[in-house]
Amino acid sequence: MEKTKFILDEKQMPTQWYNIQPDLPVPLPPYLHPGTKQPLGPADLAPLFAMELIKQEVSQERYIDIPEEVQEVYKLWRPTNLFRAHRLEKFLDTPAKIYYKYEGTSPPGSHKPNTAIPQAYYNKKEGIKRMTTETGAGQWGSSLAFACNLFGLELKVYMVKVSYNQKPYRRIMMETWGAKCVASPSKDTKSGRDALAADPNCPGSLGLAISEAVEDCVTSKNTHYSLGSVLNHVLMHQTVIGQEAMKQMEMAGDYPDILIGCVGGGSNFAGMFLPFAKDKLSGKKKNLRIINVEPESCPTLTKGLYAYDLGDVAGMAPIAKMFTLGHGFMPPPVHAGGLRYHGMSPLISHLHKLGFVEAVAVPQLATFEAGITFARTEGIISAPETCHAIRATIDEALKCKATGEKKVILFNHSGHGHFDMAAYEQYLTGKLQDYAYPEDLVKKALKDLPEVPAEYR
Ligand SMILES: *Cc1c(COP(=O)(O)O)cnc(C)c1O
Repeated sequence: MEKTKFILDEKQMPTQWYNIQPDLPVPLPPYLHPGTKQPLGPADLAPLFAMELIKQEVSQERYIDIPEEVQEVYKLWRPTNLFRAHRLEKFLDTPAKIYYKYEGTSPPGSHKPNTAIPQAYYNKKEGIKRMTTETGAGQWGSSLAFACNLFGLELKVYMVKVSYNQKPYRRIMMETWGAKCVASPSKDTKSGRDALAADPNCPGSLGLAISEAVEDCVTSKNTHYSLGSVLNHVLMHQTVIGQEAMKQMEMAGDYPDILIGCVGGGSNFAGMFLPFAKDKLSGKKKNLRIINVEPESCPTLTKGLYAYDLGDVAGMAPIAKMFTLGHGFMPPPVHAGGLRYHGMSPLISHLHKLGFVEAVAVPQLATFEAGITFARTEGIISAPETCHAIRATIDEALKCKATGEKKVILFNHSGHGHFDMAAYEQYLTGKLQDYAYPEDLVKKALKDLPEVPAEYR
């Protein structure tokens, strides 16, 4: 019998994060200040982030030590298991070998605490008392609530209003861990009040919730802001996933031909693929394919522009060069809330522009179909976001079936879907729909890209 799971001992947990920046063939474009449009310095970011995180954001050191206090918390659920999906392979009747790394065993149920924990730790260490953040479906808010509670920090979460109303359980998780959560747009900030004045029924968006959280941060004492994806330091914290997966694939005696992951801001998948991408960039594994999967309704990498854009609606956050659908874009209400951001991490955008990673967009119904197949073969009920990765994995495995190729596929399983059963019910009762690519809305949103000096265009 071939093995099903590959288990690492606590002692084999990575003790350093991998920073890909020194290994990039071309350096990342700088962030720009939303006011001056000039490159940001550490002093510009200091009102928002802990100094250690600002250093990590632009660090050229290949490996950065994970503080012992952070490792101790990681050990509550890390190392996570890597599985071979024997039953899924059999069901698909594919010669491909399918592996997945399962990040759903953290207390909040996803990969997100991998960065929430160090962010809370560094802020606490630098004397911060309170944090603010935004959350879409609530996975990030609940992860940061879990982390802030462990390090004794207060937390206020601005939760996109549609999700706040649709997904009360994630809010209750945040409250259980001691955080305060309000629906965004809220009356607590000027950005929120402006949005409500323009449209009292505004359903909210991640970009708007970011504006509220940043505004709250810069107008409050001893308060910092935290972002759960997109930024370089966030992606770097997630590289514990890929470093573990590399060891586990070695135990399995395989090296992946294809890596697959779902991307919202890009953190879970980058966390898996960056350590492997090192091999691709160095030429050791030239043929490795890295496939980013996004929703057809929010197709940032496949349909967006590579340009400098605002990270949020109000223009309070830094301007970043990234694939974007325009900061004013409000995506259709698909259930994969974690994938509904208008931009993509600058690091993944850069690698995509350079041709090192690929992207596909998949429709909502097909992702739930894949999620049901996965639940009925491998048992795990997956987050709607993760179902995007499963869809693309099944599609690649079926291509192998057609060609007879025995490819090795590894996908990152970013989290369980236990708080998304209402979405599964809608699918199972035929009430779920696909949303076409909202071309007109994107065209409109892309007209509002900020002007930047010629040398940065
Ligand atoms: C937040 C989330 C995502 C999307 O965020 P990334 O930063 O792209 O990883 C994907 N899956 C799950 C389960 C999430 O909670």
